[in-house]
Amino acid sequence: MRTESLLHVFLVSFPGQGHVNPHLRLGKRLASKGLFVTLSTPKGFAQKMAEANNITDDHPIPVGDGFLQFGSFEDGWDDDDPRRAHLDQYMHQLELAGKPAISAMIERYAEQNRPVSCLINNPFIPWASDVAESLGIPSAMLWVQSCACFAAYYHYNHGLVKFPTETDPEIDVQLPSMPLLKHDEVPSFLHPSTPFAFLRTAILGQFKKLDKQFCVLMDTFQELEPEIVEYMSKFCLIKTVGPLFKYPEVPNNTIRCDIMKPDDCIEWLDSKPAASVIYISFGTVVYLKQEQVDEIAEALLATGISYLWVMKPPAKESGLPIHTLPEGFLEKVGDNGKVVQWSPQDKVLIHPSVSCFVSHCGWNSTMEALSCGVPIVAFPQWGDQVTNAVYLVDVFKTGVRMGGGEAENRIIPKEEVAKCFVEATVGPKAKDLKRNALKWKAAAEAAMAGGGSSDRNIQAFINEVRRRCTSTDNDAATMNFVNKHSPTEVEIV
Ligand code: UDP
Repeated sequence: MRTESLLHVFLVSFPGQGHVNPHLRLGKRLASKGLFVTLSTPKGFAQKMAEANNITDDHPIPVGDGFLQFGSFEDGWDDDDPRRAHLDQYMHQLELAGKPAISAMIERYAEQNRPVSCLINNPFIPWASDVAESLGIPSAMLWVQSCACFAAYYHYNHGLVKFPTETDPEIDVQLPSMPLLKHDEVPSFLHPSTPFAFLRTAILGQFKKLDKQFCVLMDTFQELEPEIVEYMSKFCLIKTVGPLFKYPEVPNNTIRCDIMKPDDCIEWLDSKPAASVIYISFGTVVYLKQEQVDEIAEALLATGISYLWVMKPPAKESGLPIHTLPEGFLEKVGDNGKVVQWSPQDKVLIHPSVSCFVSHCGWNSTMEALSCGVPIVAFPQWGDQVTNAVYLVDVFKTGVRMGGGEAENRIIPKEEVAKCFVEATVGPKAKDLKRNALKWKAAAEAAMAGGGSSDRNIQAFINEVRRRCTSTDNDAATMNFVNKHSPTEVEIV
C-alpha cells in the first residue's frame, strides 16, 4: 500500500507518561480509521519508550486501515544535564529547542511526499500550535484532563469566576454546571499556594492560544460529563473522543509507549480469587512521604487484604530516595501481596481478581478505572487529581475518599487507610460502588463503539481534517463541522 496517499496527522506530546499514553491511544484510533499518524516526543523520552517497547523511529507500523510511526526531536540538553531536575527550566528549554525542531520535522515530511495535514499537541506545550500556524497547518489540541478541569482553567483564564487569591485563599468556587468546589478541590495549580505556578502558566498558555486551534479533542465522553461538555461547547469547539483507553479491535492495537518494561504480575493475579486484590498505584509523578508509605503498609497488614502495589522508583534526576517497606513486612505478607516497580495497568485493571484501585486520581487512571468498571479509593495529591477525586466520589459515585490532597499536609493514619480499603472492597458501600463502576464501563464502551458519541466525534474530526486539506474555504467547512456534530445532538444518558 502507498502510505503517501494517506492523510498525515502529526502528534506532538510533552514527555510524560500521562501525556504520551492518551496521545498514543488517539494515534492508534486515528490510524485504525485509515490515517497515517506520527507521534513525536523529545529524544530522551522517546529512547526510553523505544527500549521498553522495541520501537524504531520513522518506521510505519500498520494499525487497522492506517499506519502509526514514532518520531523524536532534540530538546537541546544532554541526558544527564542537571537542569533536567528543574521542570520550570526544562519547559522553557523545550519550547526553545522544540519549535525549530518540530518545524524541521514537518518540512522534512513534506519533502518526503508525506505532508502533514494536521498537528495535535497536548496542554503543556502550547507553543506547538504556533509552529502549526507559522507553517499554515491546521492544529487541534488533545486535552488530557476532564472537561470539568478544562472549564476551571477556562474560567480562571478569562476571569469569569472568583478563584482563591493570596488575600482570600479559602473561598469556594462555583463554576457553571459543576458542583461547588472547595478551595482545595479546584485544580491545585490555580491556587495561589501552589509550588507549581509555572505549570499554571504553561496550561494557561494553551488557553491563550485556543483560537489558533480549530478543535479541542478531549479524553472524556459526552455521557460522563454531559452538562459541562454542553456548557463549555458554547465557548469552543469540543469533541469528546474518550475513553481513548478503549483500544480499537485491530491488529497492532497493543503497541505501548511505557518508559519502563512492565513487571510480570498477571500470572500472580491469575492465582488469586475473583475480586480479592487491591491494586495500588499513584501514577508516574506523585511521590509520597515515606511515613505515608509505612501507614499504607501497616493498613495492608491489619486488613490482610491481598494487594498488588506499584512502587515506582523516583526519577534519577529528582534525587529522591527509593521508598522502603517496614522491616519484616514482605515476609509477613508472603504470597498475599506483590510489589512491582511498574505494572501493565491496562491489563491489571481488567483482571477479574482486582477488586478496587487505590489511586492518586490522575485523569488517565481515572478514565481507565471507569472504563474497566473498577471502584476507586481516591488519594489525590495535586493538580487535577483533587478535582477528579470530587467527581469520582460525589458525581460518578465509584469512589471512597482517603485524603484531601497535598494541601491538607497530613499523613493518613493506618486506621483510616484500612477503613477505606474495607469500605471499597467488602463493606456495605462496596456493592453500590461496583454497580456504579459497571454502569460507567458500559457507557464508556458504548461511547467508543461504532456509532457511539466518541466514535462519531473522531470520525467527524477526521472528516474535518480531510476537508481542510482539500478545501480552501475553511470557514464554511468549520460551520459544517460545528453544526453537524454539536454536542446537543448527542443523546445524553
Ligand atoms: N501506568 C502504568 N503502569 C504503572 C503506573 C502507571 O501503565 O505501573 C500508566 C497508567 O495506566 C496511566 C499513566 O501511566 O495511563 C499515568 O497517568 P495518570 O494520568 O493516571 O497519572 P500521572 O502519572 O500523569 O500523574
